[in-house]
Amino acid sequence: MLDRPSSPKRAMVIGAGFGGLALAIRLQSAGIATTLLERRDKPGGRAYVYEDQGFTFDAGPTVITDPSALEELFEGAGRKLSDYVELLPVSPFYRLCWEDGYAFDYVNDQAELDRQIGAKNEKDLAGYRRFLDYSKAVFEEGYIKLGTVPFLHIRDMIRAGPQLARLQAWKSVYAKVAEFIEDDQLRQAFSFHSLLVGGNPFATSSIYALIHALERKWGVFFPRGGTGALVRGMAQLFADLGGRMELSADVERIELEGTRATGVVLKDGRHFAADLVASNADVVHTYETLLKGTVRGDAHAKRLKNKKFSMSLFVIYFGLKRHRPEIMHHTVCFGGRYRDLIAEIFNGQTLPHDFSLYLHNPCATDPSLAPPGMGSFYVLAPVPHLGNADIDWEAEGPKYRDRIFAYLEKHYIPGLSEDLVTSRIFTPVDFKSELNAHVGSAFSLDPVLTQSAWFRPHNRDSAIPNLYIVGAGTHPGAGVPGVVGSAKATAGLMIEDARAHV
Ligand SMILES: Cc1cc2nc3c(=O)[nH]c(=O)nc-3n(C[C@H](O)[C@H](O)[C@H](O)COP(=O)(O)OP(=O)(O)OC[C@H]3O[C@@H](n4cnc5c(N)ncnc54)[C@H](O)[C@@H]3O)c2cc1C
Repeated sequence: MLDRPSSPKRAMVIGAGFGGLALAIRLQSAGIATTLLERRDKPGGRAYVYEDQGFTFDAGPTVITDPSALEELFEGAGRKLSDYVELLPVSPFYRLCWEDGYAFDYVNDQAELDRQIGAKNEKDLAGYRRFLDYSKAVFEEGYIKLGTVPFLHIRDMIRAGPQLARLQAWKSVYAKVAEFIEDDQLRQAFSFHSLLVGGNPFATSSIYALIHALERKWGVFFPRGGTGALVRGMAQLFADLGGRMELSADVERIELEGTRATGVVLKDGRHFAADLVASNADVVHTYETLLKGTVRGDAHAKRLKNKKFSMSLFVIYFGLKRHRPEIMHHTVCFGGRYRDLIAEIFNGQTLPHDFSLYLHNPCATDPSLAPPGMGSFYVLAPVPHLGNADIDWEAEGPKYRDRIFAYLEKHYIPGLSEDLVTSRIFTPVDFKSELNAHVGSAFSLDPVLTQSAWFRPHNRDSAIPNLYIVGAGTHPGAGVPGVVGSAKATAGLMIEDARAHV
């Protein structure tokens, strides 16, 4: 348990995504009276939950890694994660499938991995071992040492410089994987991970190769009851600690007096005074809208909008009248193109004609997410964000859905159209309107090296000393472990500042 500051302070956290929830828990357990303000009717943010005709659809994150970060969060509040939610191990972590019929089961069993790699390309066995060593080294530097410390000053970046240089962080994930592995499909198998946090494997720093070591160290998990059960567990913990959460609380602006934040005003006119204000909302939205008309807000929003944003996603949630246990929980369906398709997704101005998909079949792990004997699924396709490709999603969405369904029916789920009970889509326009995501980006700022660590928006604003950022848009970045790590970095600053200003 953290020491309590000597006089109670009030904090507002805007947004109840994983980052906002984790931050609110840390602040409340440190004795800072914390209110969490969320514009939607449920917490979770990208991890929202849709319920429809007995099907439960987790909207976003499904691959839960680094359970130790969540355990530490609960332990810091004097509780046990396992009293709130059960994490079920998932194996294989992913089944990776290609159109030529080749499939690779990405498991944590070294002998089984070796068998599959050797069968594909004997020479890549030794290369994989060297890749794993590299991945472990970047994991130690990039995740264990730097993942939860705020980069507020250029000197923090300079200090990390020698390690980043030694690990050749200027190279891309794919370039690094290609140094070790020869086979084209195995190169895809060990480089696609950065896409899970919005990074282009051909442009994102090879530091993101750490995801492989992270998954191998702790495994891949799925909460019993779905990712929504983890969100509910965190919301319950926050309530048990005495925290206050307001849902349907759409923040209109952050109030300033001089250079200090003094509170927030909601669209419905309610006002909340605060000593410390943190935003888990999209970073551009925070500066452009919530600080609109202020010198800092207008200037910083302009700078941020010139940065490169990560791709968007097109997601279809669908329920089938048949459970399909033969489809692995996490299935990646690689299309015919890899490098060129990714280039079009990140930089193209139109919707690519083909796709690579991630297919989620949670009932493979927990059948309770659908009515008995049935299956709830989602499938997502990475697509360009609205700033690059001005696609009319209202017209294009249903057509794109039908194309993806036809593709799935042909390659992965025969009988899909006959078994379909319900479906809904979520497009880049929904990321923008529902989540206030700039250009509808699914993962905020693109995690290239020049937009990482000190180059990413800081956990504490440099001009408004009691305004803080938490979540995918700040250090270290997107993904559940990333934003939970950002909450640790941001909470450390807020608790220190609360003590310093008693
Ligand atoms: C489809 C999808 C699949 C993913 N899969 C995985 C995965 O398997 N594993 C993984 O680790 N990561 C995954 N990710 C990434 C991960 O979900 C995100 O990086 C992470 O959840 C973002 O959390 P966050 O704290 O930044 O906030 P968000 O989830 O973005 O939440 C921000 C919250 O702020 C609220 N808000 C915005 N504006 C206001 C306002 N003005 N007033 C009040 N509230 C406001 C929003 O409503 C929202 O609830 C996935 C993402 C997506 C979209």
